[in-house]
Amino acid sequence: MNFKDCCKPRTTAEENGEYEEIRIAKAKNNCHLCDDYADRQKEKPVAVMCCEGACLRGEIARQTANILCHSLVPEKTVRVCLGGAFTKDSGQRDLVRKAGRLLSLEGCHVNCASRMMAGVIEGLEPELVITDRLFDFDRSLFGIDDMPPEKIRAHAMTVARTIAATL
Ligand code: SF4
Repeated sequence: MNFKDCCKPRTTAEENGEYEEIRIAKAKNNCHLCDDYADRQKEKPVAVMCCEGACLRGEIARQTANILCHSLVPEKTVRVCLGGAFTKDSGQRDLVRKAGRLLSLEGCHVNCASRMMAGVIEGLEPELVITDRLFDFDRSLFGIDDMPPEKIRAHAMTVARTIAATL
């Protein structure tokens, strides 16, 4: 199973024909720890990008990515640094560019992670996993403070197990 069908974005830039141009200052500094990490992880078959958002949905997506890549299936998955991959063309972006299978965990249908990376890697088509569709909760909630930490963790674990079963 993959997520291409169940988590399709509502619209794509190609469909609505609209783009926003962004100018990013080139990074002067590089982090060798990050590049070394990317180099060590590059043989793993699945790269995982994730919304790094500050809301409840984003936090659950973020914890899901960490559980998946660092606890449930670390031998198969590599956790991508979205900010690093987006803002500079180095090891993190290469993890995305060359991934055998690329998952984009999106906290909501804004699809920030996949849209950001499609802006710097032409033709990128990750499998979108809209994580808030994969667990039950009160959809009127927005903030991280609106849910106890243990419940957030439990939802992230549910989503991570669902994804791990497809790998
Ligand atoms: S993009 Fe969506 S999930 Fe991510 S922080 Fe913003 S509202 Fe939350």
